[in-house]
Amino acid sequence: MSEKTPKKAKKDLLSWKETWIQCLRALKLFYHYRPNMLLIHTFYTIYTALTPFVNIFLSARIIEELSGDRDPQKLMLLVLLTLGLAALLSFIGALTRRQFKVEDQFLFCLERQIRADKMLRMDYCLVDDTKIHEQLDTLEQYCNGAGRSLRRVIWFYDMILSGIVSLFGGFSLSISLFTSRVPESAGRLTALNHPLFIVLMIGLLLAVTYLSPIFIVKADAVWSKGANSHNLGNRLFGFYGFLGHKNNVAGDVRMYRQEAFCEKYNTDKKGTFYSRGYYAMQARGAVGMYYVASTIFSVIFTGVVYLFVCSKAWAGAFGLGMVTQYISTISKLSGKVSSLFQVLGQARNHATFLKMNFDFLDIENTMIQGDLHLDKSSDKKYEIEFQDVSFRYPGSEQYALRHVNMKLRVGQRLAVVGQNGSGKTTFIKLLCRLYDPTEGVILLNGTDIRQYNYEEYLSIFSVVFQDFRLTDFTLGQNVAAKEEYDKTHVEDCLCKAGFDERLRELPLGMETYLTKNFSDEGVDMSGGEKQKIALARTLYKNAPFIILDEPTAALDPIAEAEIYSRFNEIIEDKTAIYISHRLSSCRFCDGILVFDKGAVVQQGSHDSLMQDSSGKYHELWFAQAQYYANN
Ligand code: ADP
Repeated sequence: MSEKTPKKAKKDLLSWKETWIQCLRALKLFYHYRPNMLLIHTFYTIYTALTPFVNIFLSARIIEELSGDRDPQKLMLLVLLTLGLAALLSFIGALTRRQFKVEDQFLFCLERQIRADKMLRMDYCLVDDTKIHEQLDTLEQYCNGAGRSLRRVIWFYDMILSGIVSLFGGFSLSISLFTSRVPESAGRLTALNHPLFIVLMIGLLLAVTYLSPIFIVKADAVWSKGANSHNLGNRLFGFYGFLGHKNNVAGDVRMYRQEAFCEKYNTDKKGTFYSRGYYAMQARGAVGMYYVASTIFSVIFTGVVYLFVCSKAWAGAFGLGMVTQYISTISKLSGKVSSLFQVLGQARNHATFLKMNFDFLDIENTMIQGDLHLDKSSDKKYEIEFQDVSFRYPGSEQYALRHVNMKLRVGQRLAVVGQNGSGKTTFIKLLCRLYDPTEGVILLNGTDIRQYNYEEYLSIFSVVFQDFRLTDFTLGQNVAAKEEYDKTHVEDCLCKAGFDERLRELPLGMETYLTKNFSDEGVDMSGGEKQKIALARTLYKNAPFIILDEPTAALDPIAEAEIYSRFNEIIEDKTAIYISHRLSSCRFCDGILVFDKGAVVQQGSHDSLMQDSSGKYHELWFAQAQYYANN
């Protein structure tokens, strides 16, 4: 895989109006999550923007007194005032900075939380969609690698506010530079009093102040253009750069000498982070020149300010104290105005990335969420019926299920069998309302399941999916899916799932972490052990429906036989659906649903299905029996 040239990944700039809309939306979003954060940022920014002007003003008064009347009492008063104010401001600053830093650190987590919340609220069918994941991955990469994050808006806010406040502070201390008049005795230098000269001077200062940041904005635009290639570079670096760190591929790497791939990557000087990569080349070329040009305009600006202020002071318009005040104020002001222009340009460059974030956050859920409550009085008396249900996965042309009709009676043990890809898992996903049927309807006690409150409907199912995942938390927390849990109930469920012996071996028992990620005493469980824990989790939930999708695939034959022999007892009076490849293990079920190419081709008990020698079940049964006989 090679890295794309950034030119192809060029992003169009949004209009100024759209830029403000995006920025304001982002600010509102942060405000919604953490209103105090914006308040603290506002206060701290105003404080840091104004403090320098207070210091400049007081220092200038001291210098003025020293170079003028030199009144010791007045000097003492000025020094005490300056020191007192400096101490007070430092104290306020230290207090606010502490809060500001905490909020600033928190921003990173907040941005994560915003995206995580979106994913958690999304319909399952969207979460399962690879396009959504691509979108999310791209956002994460822009955010982490290229710094194009949602939270950058807070930085823009701080900088813009700081610029505006500084404008007020700066103008109030420098306006007299333009209004103070050179005395008539100064001869030709009285031209400095001419309004046209003053307008020209202000224009020149503004022009130079504007030009310096223009080049920084241009440099920022180059980095923005490179954001896509940076993402790919990051991914490649994350893969090749860390191949040697990954213990799950260490065996394969050694067997197939895969480090050769890394070597090739590490010696390619054109890689994103290498000496001839896009960023290094830009830094040496255009971007480097933009920074040089920006610095040149800054220096020109300083020269013009010194010339103007010193000429007026030379001509007698004001004294030494005011020279210090004007030069310090205008330099500070110019820095702030430059930053303001710079940030405005950067905000516009950045707006495209904000929009991408909002495009993601605006993805709408399409599943109907009814408000009908489940009839609690009919506790565990739920009947399910599929009426002519067909289903296509989003974006797929092929039907994964075709015209499925079936009924699930209360307390039934139903086995679902069929070859790989025949639609068994899809059937379960529709039953649990992770997806809605494309055609047909699923009824719960005679009512379309879409009319029920979604969360209540999900609460009646306990499922072990084929690709279930346990978390890095403790054994007890995994079984209970909660932080606080009933230990006796957890232990009981683990025993029923055949995990009792292993539980006794664990020194920390239920407090054992299931990986070493959070504790050195964590234990990595085998595939079979994980399956037993997942089984215990379904039992702990104690839902009326229990669904096991290949629950014993990773168990050894003895553990499997043990669980099957106790299965009826384990699931008590619950309705159970059970998917397995091993037909022999379905014999204890009182109904069997045979899937083939997305359709239910047979239904019935094991004995009745075996009687149809031309049926799919018969074929599958003998295919497996023959396999076991030959081995
Ligand atoms: P089984 O559980 O019987 O192995 P599945 O229900 O997983 O079969 O799959 C049925 C069909 O649906 C297969 O053709 C499979 O490729 C397709 N399929 C499964 N999941 C998805 C998905 N997320 N997107 C698109 N097609 C899918």
